[in-house]
Amino acid sequence: MSQQNSIGCYTFPQGRREYGFFYRMYWDVERPDEVYEFEASEQTEFVVDTETRLTVNYLGQDSVKVPVRAECARYPQITHRQQSLATRVTVGYTEDGARDGLIYCFEEAYAFIGVPLLNELLAQGFRGIESAPVVKEPYGYSDWLADGEIVMIEGRCSATTTLVIEPQEFNVCAQCGFSPLVCPECSANRLDLNDRLVCWKCGAPWLREADTDKKDLGTCRVQMTARLSESAICLDRWDGSDVCAGLIVTRRVKEFLENAGVGSFRAEAVPVLMDNVSPAQMDSLKRAQG
Ligand SMILES: [Zn+2]
Ligand SMILES: [Zn+2]
Repeated sequence: MSQQNSIGCYTFPQGRREYGFFYRMYWDVERPDEVYEFEASEQTEFVVDTETRLTVNYLGQDSVKVPVRAECARYPQITHRQQSLATRVTVGYTEDGARDGLIYCFEEAYAFIGVPLLNELLAQGFRGIESAPVVKEPYGYSDWLADGEIVMIEGRCSATTTLVIEPQEFNVCAQCGFSPLVCPECSANRLDLNDRLVCWKCGAPWLREADTDKKDLGTCRVQMTARLSESAICLDRWDGSDVCAGLIVTRRVKEFLENAGVGSFRAEAVPVLMDNVSPAQMDSLKRAQG
């Protein structure tokens, strides 16, 4: 069978999606009037508190690299994704506000919480939380934040679907035959200096884009789908954590935060891919729901 004119797709896995189990948390709502600045969506909930909390300015961090998926040993010939975990975070003074211990001292994209709230989350048995100590920059006001008063949290497990090449038979270099171009376990891929997706072994580009050079077209057997389905939780990648990378939390964490009155946030529902769910995964999902 000739595949000369066949094209594979670079896409998120297709499949049935269901909401109500996971939420991506955004800590960017500070006042009730700010809610109207966000686009209304059925899938987003707002929890708004009138109290304004201390806001800090993320300056930098020490970090360690950890492999995301141990199973990537299946493809030892390619470099698999690593996750950077903070070991110590430095912040600067931004804006004063309440420091009630329970609550975030937040900045968008970085989740800062008080140590008492971290302890409460752990006492609740929520799993998957990584926390890094936060220190203030060594100049400026001396008493606006105590060392050890807040931590930055992140989830260790990367549970969302990543881009894959479908069908799998196109996950092969047209030039040298090397496979996989994209790791089916962790989605690791190789970019060249021009940010083109290329073969790990011979460096031939494989993604057919509008600006693909004519001379490269022959080696580009894969293209982006016109309409990408949204990213979702992939149960094969989820280890049961309540707090996952990207600050995606289970519904029971979201409800805990809501009920604990910890302050203002947006919770955007993240779907779960529901094809081929095992009974054990279904049990974990039900636990996640609370
Ligand atoms: Zn991998
Ligand atoms: Zn190649």
